Amino acid sequence: MKEKKWVDCPSCGSKGSMLYRKNISETYCNPGYHPITVTGLDGHFCRVCDEGIFTIKSNKKIASSIAEGKALQDSDKIVASSITDVDSVAKTLSVTRQRVHQMMDEGKLSYVYVGKNRFPIKGDEKSIKLLKMRIKKRSHG
Ligand SMILES: [Zn+2]
Repeated sequence: MKEKKWVDCPSCGSKGSMLYRKNISETYCNPGYHPITVTGLDGHFCRVCDEGIFTIKSNKKIASSIAEGKALQDSDKIVASSITDVDSVAKTLSVTRQRVHQMMDEGKLSYVYVGKNRFPIKGDEKSIKLLKMRIKKRSHG
């Protein structure tokens, strides 16, 4: 994906209103979780309506920070029987362990922290199946 340079606002339609801004902090509220604040973001923002578009890099950071924030919060309430390990998920999906870690980074797979290690959540089987379908599709062309 190539980074688009925003000039006109896609939200309110103002011409030439988009300005590049960096060091932005955003707080995300997810149901059942404490708000998660992500800092150091950049993107193009409209000086008329204040709508903005984050860069691809910032979007990735947001996805990964929210996943990590949820994981840290879940670590307090989740029980051992509801988590699985990276190896089993890798086996289920027929991907490498590295790819499983990558999916956790991208926020595609829910996980929790146990000590310093990350463990995928077992209840996330539905998303695992979805991922499996997507991976299959991709490998078939
Ligand atoms: Zn605007």
